[in-house]
Amino acid sequence: MKYIFITFFIGFFWMSCSKSHQAINTSKAPIIKVIDTDFSKGQLNHVQDIQLDDLVKLHGHLCDGLIVGYLGLHEAFKELYPEGPVDRTNTRIISKSSPCLTDAAIYLTGGRYQYNSFYVDNSIDGIYYLQRLDHQKALSVSLKAGVKPEEIDSLGQLAIKERLNLEELNHLKQIEDEFSAVLLSTPAKELFDVEVITDFQWSPRPKHNYPKTDIINKNVME
Ligand SMILES: [Zn+2]
Repeated sequence: MKYIFITFFIGFFWMSCSKSHQAINTSKAPIIKVIDTDFSKGQLNHVQDIQLDDLVKLHGHLCDGLIVGYLGLHEAFKELYPEGPVDRTNTRIISKSSPCLTDAAIYLTGGRYQYNSFYVDNSIDGIYYLQRLDHQKALSVSLKAGVKPEEIDSLGQLAIKERLNLEELNHLKQIEDEFSAVLLSTPAKELFDVEVITDFQWSPRPKHNYPKTDIINKNVME
């Protein structure tokens, strides 16, 4: 009986620790297959596998917003390119202004502001509108209501206003990391709505001075 109690206690202690230092297992994220041209004047035959860790290097860090963008676009690609790789020469995208969502948008679709295949618009429903150019099929991607813990948004708003101290910022990081782990272990169908847009409009917005919200607190000290 004594040993059962000790085993239970150690197990409980280990679970408590692992929750507070929850590791985010990026290998759980699906691989996204893309196709590009094979040199500066090349043809469309260069197929590559992209992993979440590749996007992390572009973005600078792993975060819940990056995972939302990666998994949400993976869901949309299954409908836009059911037959094979995502054609990054044939896709344009409109994104909400979050630095995480916009980095996932340009990296995974090949859309770029300077070639009129990417722009930011915070008035769209959900997080992305994207379109396959040859078929003109357009989709919207949204995170289902109630999926994201409300505390992440409320504390995030305070962080943007520079009203959180270092301890509070660390708490925000912890709940974002816990949300990241949930995202990576939940079937995507339970997280996202992907819907066809029948009256898709491409109306590029000239605004390009959105706040880069992931660098606002970069100098906060103890
Ligand atoms: Zn981020």
